[in-house]
Amino acid sequence: MSSPTSIHYLLIWSRDILIKAGVPSPQADAEWTLAHVLECSRSELLMRARQPLTPAQNATFRNLIHRRADRIPLQHLLGNTEFYGLPFHTSPDALIPRPETETLVEIVLNQLKNCTNPRILDIGTGSGIIAIALGKSLPRSQVIATDISRKALYLASQNARLNGVADRISFFQTDLLTSFATPESFHAILSNPPYISSNTIDALQPEVRACDPRLALDGGCDGLDFYRKIIPTSIPLLAPGGLLGLEIGHDQARAVTQLLSRQIGLTHIATHTDLGGYPRVVLAQRR
Ligand code: GLN
Repeated sequence: MSSPTSIHYLLIWSRDILIKAGVPSPQADAEWTLAHVLECSRSELLMRARQPLTPAQNATFRNLIHRRADRIPLQHLLGNTEFYGLPFHTSPDALIPRPETETLVEIVLNQLKNCTNPRILDIGTGSGIIAIALGKSLPRSQVIATDISRKALYLASQNARLNGVADRISFFQTDLLTSFATPESFHAILSNPPYISSNTIDALQPEVRACDPRLALDGGCDGLDFYRKIIPTSIPLLAPGGLLGLEIGHDQARAVTQLLSRQIGLTHIATHTDLGGYPRVVLAQRR
């Protein structure tokens, strides 16, 4: 029988609590939390299974597990996460980075590979993941990132510093209408806008519904409000041949493609799927 403060015991104890609370990945979350408290890797936990925690570590761990059982997202409890292989701070001021958004980054990087000094605009940057992942991968890029939320922009600018790209990204607090930008100035305009329809937000899992800012989720009655605004205002800001790249909800490909194809200024409209096989990104090019 292992001691009630050993890694082995605490992992079983915490997994059971998280299972009872309906947490989707109880084992992994218990391991991430314990690895965080012990400042070690997840695989080290197995090797050190019999090692006891200090009283302080034990108290911290138990406290984090109870908060996770209250369905506070793991990323907020640990204060950070990874996106596109890079570290990001998270906070309740912005959407938690989603792996689906890596699809948009990957596609845009591929499209911009022959552009020597790309100028990029990220609308509604949130925690800054799109702007920062692109800025990091494209050392000669200049990125402008906007958000309506000052708190989100503060988080994003901290993330830019964390990733060493603060000199490449300018942050602006503005609503979508990017009136400060010069016409035809961007090689790519990107956005992962709020796209959940207002009346389905309450049915989302508790971590999302209660902890992601509503401002970052709510896309209006049918979830498409922001596409309706972003698409026409972006076109004049794109350089000829410039790219408009939008993340979409898994069932929005048809609707967003239709919105794009109504614009005479756009061509080469295409949909791309994410790793789960869902349509996740639509692209269009300015003529
Ligand atoms: N662009 C940010 C992200 O992809 C924020 C998105 C949002 O708030 N809808 O995470």
